[in-house]
Amino acid sequence: MTITVEQGSATVTTHFINGEWTDAESPTFAVTNPFNGEVVAEAAAGGRREAEAAVAAAAAAYPAWAALAPGERQRLFLKAADIVDRRHEELVELMAVEGGASRAFSSFQIRLSSAMLRQAAGWGYLPAGDVIRSDIPGRTATVTRKPLGVVAGFTPWNGAFYLAWRTFLLPLAFGNTTVIKPSELAPMSAGLVHAEILEEAGFPAGTFNVVTHAPGEAAAISDVFFESPAVRCINFTGSDKTARILGAQAGRALKRMVLELGGFNPVILLDDADIDESIKAVTFGAFLHQGQVCMNSRKIYVDRSIHDEFVAGLTARVKSLKIGDPRDPEVIIGPLINERAVQQIDERVQDALNRGATLETGGHSDGLIYEPTILTHVPADAICTTGADETFGPLLVIEAFDDVETAFRAAQDTPYGLSASIMTRDRSRGLDLAERFDTGIVHINAPTMASEAALPVGGVKDSGWGRSGLYAIEDFTELRLTTVSSK
Ligand code: NAD
Repeated sequence: MTITVEQGSATVTTHFINGEWTDAESPTFAVTNPFNGEVVAEAAAGGRREAEAAVAAAAAAYPAWAALAPGERQRLFLKAADIVDRRHEELVELMAVEGGASRAFSSFQIRLSSAMLRQAAGWGYLPAGDVIRSDIPGRTATVTRKPLGVVAGFTPWNGAFYLAWRTFLLPLAFGNTTVIKPSELAPMSAGLVHAEILEEAGFPAGTFNVVTHAPGEAAAISDVFFESPAVRCINFTGSDKTARILGAQAGRALKRMVLELGGFNPVILLDDADIDESIKAVTFGAFLHQGQVCMNSRKIYVDRSIHDEFVAGLTARVKSLKIGDPRDPEVIIGPLINERAVQQIDERVQDALNRGATLETGGHSDGLIYEPTILTHVPADAICTTGADETFGPLLVIEAFDDVETAFRAAQDTPYGLSASIMTRDRSRGLDLAERFDTGIVHINAPTMASEAALPVGGVKDSGWGRSGLYAIEDFTELRLTTVSSK
C-alpha cells in the first residue's frame, strides 16, 4: 500500500495494525484539501475494535522491542531518516494538499524530522542506570531506567508531520511500543505516512500502529487507550481544551500523561533591539503556517521609542508575503484548516476593531485564506489581546510600552507558558528578563518558534508538561530500584 497523493486523485487509506495495512471492512470518511475542497483521500473510520487490536499488537511486540540491542535500534532509526529525506518532494506535496502547508514550512518539518530520527538513533547507548551507595553494610543498590510499555499517542493536524514523528519516535527510542491516533483532519501526514516509512525501514510488526477515525469519533478509540492496562502513558499533542477532557480520564485511570499544548508566546522588543532582525523574527514567528503553530507569537510588546518604525517595517514585510495555493513554491500564506478556524480569527479581528483597534494590514478572507493581520491600539478587553484563550491563526497584536516591567508583567499574564522571545543587543538585559519568564522556552534574538531537533521543547502552566529531544527520557522511561544485601 502507498498513501502517496497524486494531484486530483483520491487515495483510500487503511489502518496500520501489527505490521499490516488493515482493514477493508471499515467505513471511510473524506479528507479534503483546505485550499480547494478537493477530496485527497478516503480514510478508514475505525473505532473500538481497531483500537483494541492495535493495543494488543503493541503489547505483544513490547518485550522484544524493549530488549533489542542498541545497535539494531540505531540501524532502523537511521534507515527511517534516510527514507524521510528521500521522500522529501512527495511529503511536501502531501502536507500541502492535506494541511495547507507551504513548501517552506513542509521542508522545515522534514529537515527537523530526519535530524530528530538521526539524533534518537543513538539513545539506546545512553547509560541505563546508576549505582547508589547504601548506609547498610553489605547492601548495594542500583537504579535502572526501564521503558514504560505501550505509549498511546494523539497527534494534531498542524505541523502534523514533525509532531507525529515526535509522538512515535521519542517513546520508541527509549524501548516503548506505540499506537497513534492521528487527527481526523490530516490522518496521512499526522501518522499514516510515518507508518509507511517505519515499515519500509524494517521496524518489527506491532512496534508502531496507527488507527484512524471519522470526525467527532475520537472517543471510541481513546476510551480503549484509557481502559487498557497495557497502555502505560498517554502522549498528547493538541489543544488545552481536549487535554482537559483526556486529563480527567487519565486521572480516573491513573495513567501517566505527556502534554504538549497551546501557547501565547509573547515577544518583547527592548529599545536597543535590532529592528530589521526583529521584523524578520516576528514575521516568521507570527505567520509561519498562517499562525497555526503552537509556538507562533500572538503579541509583541515594543518600546515606544521604536514602535512606529517597527510597525511600519513589519507591515510592509507582511504585505509582501505571497498568498495562495501552498503547492506554489513561492506561496508563504496558504489556507486555514477549516471554516471554523476562519470564523474564529474573523470574530476576534472584528471584536478588536469594534472596540477601537487599528487595522495595520489584513482583516479579510477569501475561501479558507485569511490575510495575515496586524492590529495595534487594541483595547485591553479585546479577546485577542488578553492571552486568556489561544488565537490559532494569522492574527498578531502589537502594543507599545513605556516601562519594560509593566510590559513584562502583561506578557506573563496568560495561563499559557510555552515560548517567549526578547529582542535586544544587551545580552545581560535579555538574560535578566529571560530568567524571570514563566515559560518552558525563552529565546533571546530569535523567533518564539525557533526549533531544533535536539532542543527540549515543551511548556509550563496550561501549555502542558513533558519535553522533546533527549530530555524525553524522563517522560518515556521510569526508574526501578534494585537492592542486593549480602545475606
Ligand atoms: P485538538 O485538541 O482538537 O486535537 C488533538 C488530538 O486530539 C487529535 O488527534 C484529535 O482527534 C484528538 N481529540 C480531539 N477531541 C477529542 C476527544 N474528545 N477525545 C479524544 N480525542 C480527541 O487539537 P488540534 O486542533 O488538532 O491541534 C491544534 C492545537 O494543538 C493547538 O492548541 C496547538 O497550540 C496545539 N499544539 C501544541 C503543540 C506543542 O508542541 N505544544 C504542537 C502542535 C499543536
